[in-house]
Amino acid sequence: MFLQALVCAIALAGASATDSKLARAYVDAVHDLNVKHARDPGKETEEELAKKLPPPALKALESLLKEKSSPELTQALQECSEAALDLARVEDFAKIRARLAKDAPADAAKLDTMLARPRFVLRGVGGLDEQYLEHFADVFQGVLEAYDEVFGFAEFSKVPGKKLRVRVHLEQKIERAPHFGPEFPYHSEIDFPVIDAKKLASPTPEGKMLFFGLCHELGHVIAMWDTPGKQVDYHQWADYTGFVIVEHLASRKDAPAWMKDLKDARWRTLTIQRKEVKDAKPALDSDKGVMATLIGLHDRVGPKTIGTAINALDAEDKRMRINRVRYYKFEELKKALLVVVAKDKDKKRAVEELLP
Ligand SMILES: [Zn+2]
Repeated sequence: MFLQALVCAIALAGASATDSKLARAYVDAVHDLNVKHARDPGKETEEELAKKLPPPALKALESLLKEKSSPELTQALQECSEAALDLARVEDFAKIRARLAKDAPADAAKLDTMLARPRFVLRGVGGLDEQYLEHFADVFQGVLEAYDEVFGFAEFSKVPGKKLRVRVHLEQKIERAPHFGPEFPYHSEIDFPVIDAKKLASPTPEGKMLFFGLCHELGHVIAMWDTPGKQVDYHQWADYTGFVIVEHLASRKDAPAWMKDLKDARWRTLTIQRKEVKDAKPALDSDKGVMATLIGLHDRVGPKTIGTAINALDAEDKRMRINRVRYYKFEELKKALLVVVAKDKDKKRAVEELLP
């Protein structure tokens, strides 16, 4: 009896060691590729990077998928699933998900889902199916394209080439609004809570402006200003870009179909904000002052010029970075703007008046 138990224990330990060894091979290979890319991104896209996964790593995953069910296997598969998400390996993710679903059919509907498009990867958490992610992807892509049309920012993710991530998670109640997660080493991620697995509507019945939140968070992804302990933009930049993008999408004559459930423009637009700060003087030492400065720049030099100046700063890449996230200062923006508007007297004067 004792001997039998011992033999069993050894067999289990053996299985678990194999599982974790196979998982390690896959996870480490993904990690190595991401580290190498982050060190020298060049022009490489994540799609190109994902194709570089060494064949032995893929073979390890294939072998793992054939292992016997056990809690150790589940854990090993979950680790590989995280790695697949980290390198936008959609097919690997799908195979792992199918195996996890087969092993625990009762929980299958709650398993994470994944969708990748050229510019981003979505992860659905807590019971959001692929159909939901498709719809969310249309919205997110539309927002990114609006940013392209209005500002023309060249860089979104903090590591060039890496796709943006949005972690969309289903909650009973939204405790924390959408937010930018700067902590991930190889990509920029937005954390996005939702309360309805069938439909993306905003504001929520409780008044949470999820759509404005998404547009706002992309502003943070593009450019951070406030640093711990030091206020620079008084958290106005992301509000400014958020207002601009919501207004842009809501006022389009050929508004996309998905806009019908996103009604934030009734409360959050640049036009509304312009009225709110109409008595505030442009300044860099208060929230209203910064908002008046940004709206002043928007109206007098234009958002494309702002985008071009930010792109010039990114191309130089001399700004401060914390955990690879880009941080900007108004002195730097002013210098870059003055180069862009050098031949336009009115715009030059606007920059000099608005940014001391
Ligand atoms: Zn914010």
